[in-house]
Amino acid sequence: MQAWDVIVIGAGAAGLMCAAEAGKRGRRVLVLDHGKRIGRKILMSGGGRCNFTNYYTEPAAYLCGNPHFVKSALARYTQWDFIALVEKHGIAYHEKTLGQLFCDDSAQNIVDMLVAECDAAGVTIRLRAEVLNVEPMGEGFAVTTAGEPYRCQSLVVATGGLSMPKIGASPFGYRLAEQFGLKVLPTRAGLVPFTLQPEDKQTLEGLSGVSLPVVAKSECGARFAENLLFTHRGVSGPAVLQISSYWQPGQRVCFELLTEGSLSGAVADSPNQELKTWLARYLPKRLVDALLARGELVSKPLKQYTHKELAAIEQRLAAWPLQPGGTEGYRTAEVTLGGVDTNELSSKTMEAKKVPNLYFIGEVMDVTGWLGGYNFQWAWSSGWVCGQVV
Ligand code: FAD
Repeated sequence: MQAWDVIVIGAGAAGLMCAAEAGKRGRRVLVLDHGKRIGRKILMSGGGRCNFTNYYTEPAAYLCGNPHFVKSALARYTQWDFIALVEKHGIAYHEKTLGQLFCDDSAQNIVDMLVAECDAAGVTIRLRAEVLNVEPMGEGFAVTTAGEPYRCQSLVVATGGLSMPKIGASPFGYRLAEQFGLKVLPTRAGLVPFTLQPEDKQTLEGLSGVSLPVVAKSECGARFAENLLFTHRGVSGPAVLQISSYWQPGQRVCFELLTEGSLSGAVADSPNQELKTWLARYLPKRLVDALLARGELVSKPLKQYTHKELAAIEQRLAAWPLQPGGTEGYRTAEVTLGGVDTNELSSKTMEAKKVPNLYFIGEVMDVTGWLGGYNFQWAWSSGWVCGQVV
């Protein structure tokens, strides 16, 4: 049975960062992944260009049962640290929007960078090596794979979440946590498009392809000013992906299509203009037509509306309600909400409080970032702090 100082399960963003850091400290590190390629999610992220971090990373951009948990790791390994690493490797990048940083060329640059860091630190990476079982052994662990058995002093679980099952996502990390008596919070898809209720599907399906800037609002008070996109399956776009992480089944979401006050001002300027003509100056015409067809609006010359009617139209468009039928689920979700309860882990090292030498990093734990590079930054930060101690 081969003995290692550290075994990392998962050659994804968090696992590779942790392995490189531990290797730099002289630890003998083995990374095991059941996939055929290293960093598969990195490769498909950001439309193939990997949105690797965000200039505005801060703890408020993360959903976690314990909102304070992320502070320490994010402060010790910041977006600026990761940007410095990217620059050290000569990777060209740009800010797309809202602080989101993407590779100019390809996400492969980020994978190559992590592999180079691991190589320089003497880390061994084995692919097609599914970890099937872990048992305590002395002060460390025995790790069973489909091939060779291994033992290690420290075990790092970096198996990610459940999204994109086609590229290797597995519940293994959650099962392992439960096996060692750690609480795992219920998981659900996040950063995911909404599907529609059957009645909305009929009236909104024709809007497929329509996109517009909105403010999406959840019942719990989260708000995101981003784009809404109607698709043939429902609604998507960054506004929807963001708000989906704050949505619970049965709840409504609201979209601010038009700011309150704009319509009342128009009556004096264009009293003879029809409502639908005026609205089409600000909203896509196909959306205005759909709102009329759904009976949400009645179009007539603006001067014919009473103040009360105008106020009601404004209110409706300032908080256009939609009750999603559900989400598209893990098949298209970018992340998994929930996971290993952070109360079970040290926020400084990611070590399980009850199980010495067992660590959880990255998406497998109950930490989920907003859309825009925040999830990778969590993988880098949690992986880095863990790499300093394993
Ligand atoms: P992963 O990267 O998921 O790595 C986990 C690894 O563990 C996998 O390689 C898997 O094969 C391996 N594994 C699992 N079980 C086992 C087992 N039993 N044995 C061996 N190996 C195992 N975030 C951003 O910040 N910016 C983006 O641009 C972005 N784009 C995304 C696009 C898509 C389509 C998706 C799905 C996600 C995107 N994300 C993005 C989210 C981001 O990819 C994840 O949050 C991040 O990859 C999590 O890193 P991780 O290392 O924790 O897990």
